[in-house]
Amino acid sequence: MGENLATTRHRWRLPGAICLVAIATLFAFAATQNSTFVMAAVATVAITAMAAALASDAARSTDSRSNSAERLPGDLIPDVAKQLLGSIDEPLLLLDSASRLVFANRATQTLVRLDALGKPLVSVFRTPALLQAVRSAQETGQPQKVAFTVPVPVQQHFEAHVSRTADRLLLIHIRDVSDIRRADELRADFVANASHELRTPLAALTGFIDTLRGHARDDPEARERFLEIMSTEARRMRRLIDDLLSLTKIELNEHNPPGGEVDLVETLRDAADALKPLADSAAVTLEIEPHQPAYATGDRDQLTQLFQNILHNAIKYGREGGQVRVRFGVVASSSQRGEKQISVAIEDEGEGISRDAIPRLTERFYRVDVKRSREKGGTGLGLAIVKHILNRHRGRLEIDSIPGRGSTFTAYLPASPRTATVIEVLQSTSIIG
Ligand code: ADP
Repeated sequence: MGENLATTRHRWRLPGAICLVAIATLFAFAATQNSTFVMAAVATVAITAMAAALASDAARSTDSRSNSAERLPGDLIPDVAKQLLGSIDEPLLLLDSASRLVFANRATQTLVRLDALGKPLVSVFRTPALLQAVRSAQETGQPQKVAFTVPVPVQQHFEAHVSRTADRLLLIHIRDVSDIRRADELRADFVANASHELRTPLAALTGFIDTLRGHARDDPEARERFLEIMSTEARRMRRLIDDLLSLTKIELNEHNPPGGEVDLVETLRDAADALKPLADSAAVTLEIEPHQPAYATGDRDQLTQLFQNILHNAIKYGREGGQVRVRFGVVASSSQRGEKQISVAIEDEGEGISRDAIPRLTERFYRVDVKRSREKGGTGLGLAIVKHILNRHRGRLEIDSIPGRGSTFTAYLPASPRTATVIEVLQSTSIIG
């Protein structure tokens, strides 16, 4: 018995090492391709290859033992194989030819109970689709792929690949595809919302075209009025398309942090200048607190867009005849490294926002009051753009509001090395506390 085990271990060393090297090479290749699809394909190929090697060895070790009835189920698998399969961080289950569970790696912990070993799969997993796939793979020898959902404790979506080895062992490789499913759902919702938003002004435009061709044809006064509305709707479509393109561009670049240095005080002044006509028409005064230059690490165009969006909202939803104030500050970030951050707080005196709406404000197309946003020319994408620009800059947004009194939107951005040094010098000479 001891000799057999030693022989099995010895036999396993070479294929085990080859598999490990092959898997490492494949994963390295997949990582350079930077593609989830390639990673998934590579993972499945690599795991199945290793399982095939494992299975044939396991079967050989089975043959070499005489009293198979007394054997524990996990005994079919040599230790080195268990270690290899156990080190893979995606759930893997191995069944014998009677569909009993003979091995489950650590990643299956949340899916199967610890005492499941040796039990038939049907008493461990109650998912009909998976059980059917296992039966088909066992009967036909063809690999099967099946999707299934586990509803509790939180809904999770999985994809299982079932393959049979030459020795009638079955490998089930399970992948958690919840994130991919959620991303697909979000994308589908986004397309539906964007189409809906575009359809509204488009319907208005086509309606007015018909009216102008029909009974308003000889009514110059009505024609002028309708043309004015058409022009407003066309501008709205344009803003929506600009915001959609902007959002896509920022998202595509989000993983790539900017490297430039931007003076936030100057950027805020430029954004405020661009919005001055709008502020004047709402009789809103823009007040930027005096401050020495505050350099952040960032992309100037994107930061201008970020502050324009927040300032624009403060004017749109602020009090007519009121004030919008901008204040700067320097804080230590909450990260362990404690880097310095520059805070830019934009404060208005508008109606404010209810507490439960605050967490949703940066969702695409979310508005507290859809009618009001449309009347003010809003697209519902301004704060989503702000959020993604801040993500790219490794910054964050804080929203405080007192209904009836006003709101404060504070953007935190990483201070550039130059600003951080100036602050340290000022702190060490006790000029600032
Ligand atoms: P919109 O184009 O509708 O302004 P945003 O994404 O910029 O879209 O903002 C989303 C929603 O957040 C707005 O529709 C509005 O309801 C609310 N909001 C944003 N800024 C303010 C503010 N300063 N005061 C009150 N509500 C605000």
